[in-house]
Amino acid sequence: MPNNGRPRIGITTSPRRGAEYYVPYQRAVEAVGAQPVELPPGTASLPPVDGLLLPGGWDVDPALYGEEPDPKIGPIDRDLDDTELRLFGQARAQGLPVLGICRGQQVINVAMGGSLVQHLEGHEVRSFGRGHLAHTIDVDPGSELGRAAGKDKIRVNSLHHQAIGTLAPGLVQTARGDDGTVEAVETSDGLIVAVQCHPEELACDLPWARRLFERFVERARRSQTLRS
Ligand code: MN
Repeated sequence: MPNNGRPRIGITTSPRRGAEYYVPYQRAVEAVGAQPVELPPGTASLPPVDGLLLPGGWDVDPALYGEEPDPKIGPIDRDLDDTELRLFGQARAQGLPVLGICRGQQVINVAMGGSLVQHLEGHEVRSFGRGHLAHTIDVDPGSELGRAAGKDKIRVNSLHHQAIGTLAPGLVQTARGDDGTVEAVETSDGLIVAVQCHPEELACDLPWARRLFERFVERARRSQTLRS
């Protein structure tokens, strides 16, 4: 492998969304010593990777959690939904660490049997840029996000109009907004971690956001060692 043992992080991408959208995720992963691997829609099975990152993006097809579409639902890319659900299942079966960001958190919740709030007011704050810290969240200090943050309250950006509705069995809520919005989740084994905000936009400026990626890549490194 010409990557000097750098952990390989699969990142699902959608050409319909445009390559530019994924650059901040790739940079955030590279900045903490890992190599991003693009996984486009239609990818049948995971290539050799040490971790899976499910990034932000459009809304998940509500049929996947047994609901009719709300009139306020946004664009849907069913190819991407199906691909991410499949690859997430494979990552879980292989015991790979997974990091979900925004839509990624929602995909994980749906994949594990939960549902989504199809439209939420007050959490899509784009007018001041993608790095604007829009609201505060309360964080469980013992959780992955809490350990990355080192405190129990952080300010986050907020670029979502959907959120977790019914929490899937097997997921624990680890952060909440003032209005109760699920802002982070994880599994008890710590392998699956997800946030509703966009730390890839903050990783250059805010230590907690960078540490979230560092800790994810550290888990990927451990899984690489275990499997070699
Ligand atoms: Mn929010």
